[in-house]
Amino acid sequence: MAMNIKRPNGTEDVLPKDAHKWHTIEKIARETAESFGFGEIRVPTFENTELFLRSVGETTDVVQKEMYTVKAKETEFTLRPEGTAGTIRAMLQNGLLNEALPQRVYYLTSCFRHERPQAGRLREFHQFGVEMAGSASPAADAEVISLAKIVLDRLGIKNIELYINSIGCPDCRKKYHEALRAYFENRKDELCDTCLTRLDKNPMRILDCKSPICGDIAKDAPLIIDFLCEDCSSHFEKLQSHLTNLGIEFKINPKIVRGLDYYTKTVFEFVTTEIGAQGTVCGGGRYDGLIEQLGGQHTPALGFGMGLERLLLVMEKQSCEYLTPKKCDLYIATMGDDALGKAMTLAASMREFGYYAEFDLMNRGIKAQMKYANKLGAAFTLVLGDNELSEGKAKLKEMKTGEETEILLDDKFTVNFDAVYFDKLMEGLEEQEVLGAFGKKEND
Ligand code: ATP
Ligand code: MG
Repeated sequence: MAMNIKRPNGTEDVLPKDAHKWHTIEKIARETAESFGFGEIRVPTFENTELFLRSVGETTDVVQKEMYTVKAKETEFTLRPEGTAGTIRAMLQNGLLNEALPQRVYYLTSCFRHERPQAGRLREFHQFGVEMAGSASPAADAEVISLAKIVLDRLGIKNIELYINSIGCPDCRKKYHEALRAYFENRKDELCDTCLTRLDKNPMRILDCKSPICGDIAKDAPLIIDFLCEDCSSHFEKLQSHLTNLGIEFKINPKIVRGLDYYTKTVFEFVTTEIGAQGTVCGGGRYDGLIEQLGGQHTPALGFGMGLERLLLVMEKQSCEYLTPKKCDLYIATMGDDALGKAMTLAASMREFGYYAEFDLMNRGIKAQMKYANKLGAAFTLVLGDNELSEGKAKLKEMKTGEETEILLDDKFTVNFDAVYFDKLMEGLEEQEVLGAFGKKEND
C-alpha cells in the first residue's frame, strides 16, 4: 500500500553518509556561540499563530503567504517560520529578561515556510540563530555580526560579502514612509497586488518584493539612510567603526530592508554569488521594539538567522573540509557460534573504551566478511575461529600495512588493542615527519 509514498516537495532527507557535514556546521556553530557567552535554547516546533502575526508582521511574505498553519481540534497553531519569535516568547515566559543582561541564546532548529522549492529554498529548512537581549550598544551589533563572521570563517567559506544598513527607528521611519508613499503613488497601477496593500500599511515592504516589476519600480526609491535621526545615524557610524576595528570588511547596502517587520536600526546580510539566486546565507539585525510588542518591558535586542542548507551548498561548491566521520577501528571476522559469542563480548568492551567495533551479523563466509571489512575501511581486523578460541589468542591485522600482531583474547583485550593502536599511530606520525623533512618519501 504505502510503497510509493515520497517525501513532500521542498523537504530533504539527510542520509548517514552526509551526516558528518551537518555535524561539522553544528559543532562549529555551537562552539563559536558558546565562546561568546551564548547558551542553547530549545523551543516548541509550533506556537500560537498570533505570536507570528504580532512579531513577524502582517504585511510580510512570511505571514501573507508562507506560514504552515494547522488546526488541531479547536486550536490553531503555526509551525515556526523563523526562530526569533518563539525564542523571545520563551525568554519572556521563563523570566530570562529579569536576570543579568544581556541575555544571550542560540538555537539550531528547523523552520517551515510554504515557498516555491528550488536550490537553497525549501519548505522545511534549518537555521543556526542567535538572539541577544538587553544591550542598545552598537558594540552588541558588532559582537553579533562578528559571531556570524567567525562561524563562516571557521567553516572555511570564502568570497562572502557582508552588507549592512540601518533602517532607523519608528521616528525616522515615519518620514521615510511618507517619502516612499509619495514615490510609489505615481506608479501605483504597475505594482503587484500584495505591494498595493503594502503601500498603505507598510510601504518599506515593497522594496523587498521579489517580483521583477516591483523591483524595477523600486530602483530609484528614496533611501532610508537619508532619513535617519541623529541617534540612529550615530549608532550606525559607531557600528562601522567597531567592525573596522575588528578587521571585518563590509559594504553599506542602503537597499537592504529585510523580510521581517520587527527590525530597527542595524540590518545585515552575508551574501555569496556562488550558489545562484538564493545567495543570502545569513540575515539579521536589531529589533528594539519587538520585546515590548510581545508584552515585555522595553528591551533592545538583536540577532541573526543562518540557513544551514545554503551554508552546505556553499561548502560543497568551495570544497570546504568536514569533520571526518568515525571509521571502524576493529572488524572481528568469525567462524562458528562460539566465535560469534566471543566477538560480541570483545566488541562490547571495545565500545566501552569508545572504539567503533563490528562483527558479522549476516552469516557470511570469512572471505565475504573480509571484503566487507575492507569496504568499511576498518583499521584493524581479527579473525576468530576454533583454533584462536582454544589457544586464547589471535592475530590483529592492520589493514593499511598488512602487519599482524598477536593479541590475547582475555580481559585485557581492549587495553592491549589500545597499545597496538597507539604504536601504529606513532609510526604513522614519524612517517609524516620524515615526509615533512624531505618533502616526499624516499622511494617516491
Ligand atoms: P530570502 O530573501 O532568501 O527569502 P529571508 O529574508 O526570507 O530570505 P530570513 O527570514 O532572514 O530570510 O531567514 C534567515 C536565513 O534563513 C536566510 O538568510 C536564509 O539563509 C535562510 N532561509 C530563509 N528561507 C529559507 C528557505 N525557504 N529555504 C532555505 N533557507 C532559507
Ligand atoms: Mg523569504
